[in-house]
Amino acid sequence: MKINDPELYSPKNYQLLPFRFERIGPNSCLLVNEVGEHCYLNNHELEMLVNGSLEPSCMAFQKLYSKSFVYTEENNYSLRTFCSKYKARKSFIFDGPALHIFVLTLRCENSCDYCQVTRRNPDAKKYDMPLHVARQSVYRMFECPAKNLTVEFQGGEPLLAFDVMKFIIELSVEQNTHHNKNLQFVVATSLQNINEEMLEFFHQHDVHISTSVDGPEWLHKKNRPSCHSNSYESTLKGLEQARKILGHDKIAGMTTITKSSLSSSKAIIDEYVQLGFHSIFLRPLNMYGFAVKKESKVGYTSEEFNKFYKESLNYIIQINKCGFRLDEVNASLALNNILTPQATGYVDMRSPCGDGTGVLVYNYDGKVYPSDESRMLVEMGDNSLALGSVYEPLNNLISSKQLHTILQAGVAESLPGCSDCVYLPYCGANPIQNYSRYGDMIGHRTFSAFCQKQKFLYRNIFQLLEDSSNRSVFYTWLPNNRYSSYQGELNHA
Ligand code: SF4
Repeated sequence: MKINDPELYSPKNYQLLPFRFERIGPNSCLLVNEVGEHCYLNNHELEMLVNGSLEPSCMAFQKLYSKSFVYTEENNYSLRTFCSKYKARKSFIFDGPALHIFVLTLRCENSCDYCQVTRRNPDAKKYDMPLHVARQSVYRMFECPAKNLTVEFQGGEPLLAFDVMKFIIELSVEQNTHHNKNLQFVVATSLQNINEEMLEFFHQHDVHISTSVDGPEWLHKKNRPSCHSNSYESTLKGLEQARKILGHDKIAGMTTITKSSLSSSKAIIDEYVQLGFHSIFLRPLNMYGFAVKKESKVGYTSEEFNKFYKESLNYIIQINKCGFRLDEVNASLALNNILTPQATGYVDMRSPCGDGTGVLVYNYDGKVYPSDESRMLVEMGDNSLALGSVYEPLNNLISSKQLHTILQAGVAESLPGCSDCVYLPYCGANPIQNYSRYGDMIGHRTFSAFCQKQKFLYRNIFQLLEDSSNRSVFYTWLPNNRYSSYQGELNHA
């Protein structure tokens, strides 16, 4: 009896590893595999790759092999590399919550149109976090297994509750003598109330600052009106004072883009250059919480934002080419995802989602939330996503029914629209954003503003990467932990 060679039944002399693709031109496809490596093939090459007829000696095969798109039975080096790259990209899963947001107070002297919380007057003290809540929150934080913990202070204006902040920082440092974690402190502040005593304390504890400068004076004042002072002048005064004591690199600036910002991209960027920032975060509006009430005044469509973003990024690249280093944070995060083996791990851009698994929010009233968005839903009368209170052990909080429900919709690989999207390895599931905007956690990608912005961002970056002069600029934007000052802001970007 004659037995045929196995090859007769299996024409492939290589195996495919999982990848997704998108046609980007009449004869060009972008392929991205599960570990975030990418390459371009023409239609014929893609067809041959899938049919198993690509010759191992050809250039396309070599490229695909080196980037873990294929492996061969004789040499599974590519498969083993793929596994270790996958482990590195998803390493955040093992850490548990690493970002801990302490909402110290709802008090604030500004009344920004895009604010997501119901701010309270600066003298309304009952909206501050009591010390017993602060203490328990710190204990919960140290129950997390992550080696690197970021402690972010938010409000309202957290400097109005400086005593509570000081208590938390000192208690964390003291507790850390037993836990030996890498602690990083960040304050999200307008800088309007900063003083020398605070700055000396920040200097002593290596506290980073994330502040808002929305652009030139007219725009900043329009977006961020203050009941007490000229918000632009007092922020700039605080910035100057802070830089003198902490140095330039400890203070990051971000600009929230409103309807009024859309026609002023150059003026906003010029302001950052003039102020000596080397990074700018063009943060789109998040219309949930209290901000929903002002949507018609400050909001815009995804198309309008994307047009603004494209113009701004082109201008920023030109500024870099003229010799001034200025990166844009959304683009830097995308570049990090595309060009390095490590994912950024930021809450919005990871799967499984980071709500409750990457971030915990300790509200001033003792409630614990899985994300900033979920605490802001309380402003709309919905407290269904609170995980529990700071008096419950961490295990109770992260095994709560609420977090189970969130995580069931939190794996982008299983979401319709995302599961076959070429950008999935760089993107993430956002169940709480979906819930707050569309009423269900799965959401629908066709109508999702987040999805539209993500797709636009990545398509634009891939296009820009084709030009070698852009690539030279982009390589200088790759991170070395530069985002630490933006942690929470990115979280609800
Ligand atoms: S949200 Fe949109 S861009 Fe992100 S993975 Fe899903 S479909 Fe792709």
